Amino acid sequence: MRTITLEEHFATVEILKATAHLQPPARNDFVKAVEAKLLDLGKSRIADMDAAGIDLQVLSLTNAGLDKLDGSAATALVHDANDKLADAARAYPQRFAGFAALALQEPDKAAAELERCVKKLGFKGTLLHGTVKGVFLDDARFTPVFEAAQALDVPVYLHPTLPPKEVEEAYFGGLPGLTGFFLATAAWGWHAELGMHCLRLIVSGLFDRFPKLKIIIGHMGEDLPFSIARADAVLARETKHLQRRVSEYFQQHFYITTSGYFTVPPLLCTMQVMGADRILFSIDYPYSPNTVGRNFLNALPVSAEDMGKISHGNAERLLKL
Ligand code: MN
Repeated sequence: MRTITLEEHFATVEILKATAHLQPPARNDFVKAVEAKLLDLGKSRIADMDAAGIDLQVLSLTNAGLDKLDGSAATALVHDANDKLADAARAYPQRFAGFAALALQEPDKAAAELERCVKKLGFKGTLLHGTVKGVFLDDARFTPVFEAAQALDVPVYLHPTLPPKEVEEAYFGGLPGLTGFFLATAAWGWHAELGMHCLRLIVSGLFDRFPKLKIIIGHMGEDLPFSIARADAVLARETKHLQRRVSEYFQQHFYITTSGYFTVPPLLCTMQVMGADRILFSIDYPYSPNTVGRNFLNALPVSAEDMGKISHGNAERLLKL
């Protein structure tokens, strides 16, 4: 069974060097632990894929806090990272594909870079890391990026990022050891924030402005499948400006990957809310091991038809692979 994963990360030496001093030490330690795997776009990555029967990784730049750099530096760094990713995909066309990295400090240049990546480098979309200097992507300044994604007919993968300093202190401060850091990130905060970010995009009217826009989110839907009915009911009181219900935007514009979530209950919830056509298998390599994801996939309590959709069919259709 062909297996495709699409929240799989890499880094460049230049980007890690440029951003390390801007990241919290705990985040740097986290990246350090898997740095060799992030930097490898060749044989050892492929060996790790082979060990878990993964045929194709759609690669994206890891979250390195690029929005903390000034715009022109970040724009140059992502241009170079996209070129390196394109080289890897050219060297191993059966094994790697790409999502463009963009520097959103300069939205017009980011839109042009997305176009270059899709048209010239053959990339399949873009992966963006949550907020930009604490600003959510429903802000009008980011319109050119969504405009480009819709015009190019490629999805935008929304990935979590570290919370703004004030949020970190108010919500996650005063806790023992690194528990606050982990609560702010992969244990909880990332997912709560990204789910809320998606609801912001919906209530802002983004999908009325871009009715063909497609968004991918990881981590089994960032808690939205579990909570969308209540959000829909409550927001219905105050969303007369929207053409559709909140839950309809969610079910019609969003695709969900399994990255980092390898237990069955949230998958079943997501199946019931979204259906098997909108669920795509992913790992979150190298932060999650390929073999853990593979074992989870193999044991899924779904039909052979749905297994085919989740492991490769939906990705092939959505990304035109
Ligand atoms: Mn990730």
